[in-house]
Amino acid sequence: MPRNHCSVCGAVSEQPSAPAVEPAFAPDLDTRPGEPLRSTLPTWIQSCPACGYAAPDLSYAAEGVADWVRTSEYQALPIGFERHSWLLEQLGHLADAGWIALQAAWNHEDGGQAEDARRCRRRAIRLFQASKAAGHDFLDTPAEELALAVDLLRRLGEFEGAAETVRVALQEEDLPEMIDRILRFQTALIQRRDTGRHSLDELMPRPESGTRVNLG
Ligand SMILES: [Zn+2]
Repeated sequence: MPRNHCSVCGAVSEQPSAPAVEPAFAPDLDTRPGEPLRSTLPTWIQSCPACGYAAPDLSYAAEGVADWVRTSEYQALPIGFERHSWLLEQLGHLADAGWIALQAAWNHEDGGQAEDARRCRRRAIRLFQASKAAGHDFLDTPAEELALAVDLLRRLGEFEGAAETVRVALQEEDLPEMIDRILRFQTALIQRRDTGRHSLDELMPRPESGTRVNLG
């Protein structure tokens, strides 16, 4: 493993480096990328074993981060994604903090910690809302933001909120075809009270049926 130095405390430690891979499969409805990128998630955040600083690259820390890392509130947080998300929130980067909170939820899910995943999804929603309230978008268009919010709410089992968000999203002007299909798929999932993970693959047109395999 490559070594990296911590810009908060100076300690040198072995850290995973995220492999440069592109997803070959479609993302989940909450934007989690498909494999092979999907399973590299644990390498997306480095953690200093000496001071607990967590960041994609320990050798960089924004001004003020060293002081935040030393607080008892920070040290009480689970290591990794949640700590980095918390630091971004303190620095006022609310949208980025929300994205890292969502990654924290994925990481907890991979570890089988469903309740921690739910807590992080709620945190992601709160941070995205705060970001919008502060005038900063967390995705390119309101339609995409609403589509993501629908999935966050549905995965939390907040079906009424999810259905209401679908209604709001469907009123967006010039709704892209893909978002429209996602919202209608979400409506079906909400009606089934489905809180599971689903992929954009499920929206793709099926291969033509009736195609004969030539065995001759
Ligand atoms: Zn350190």
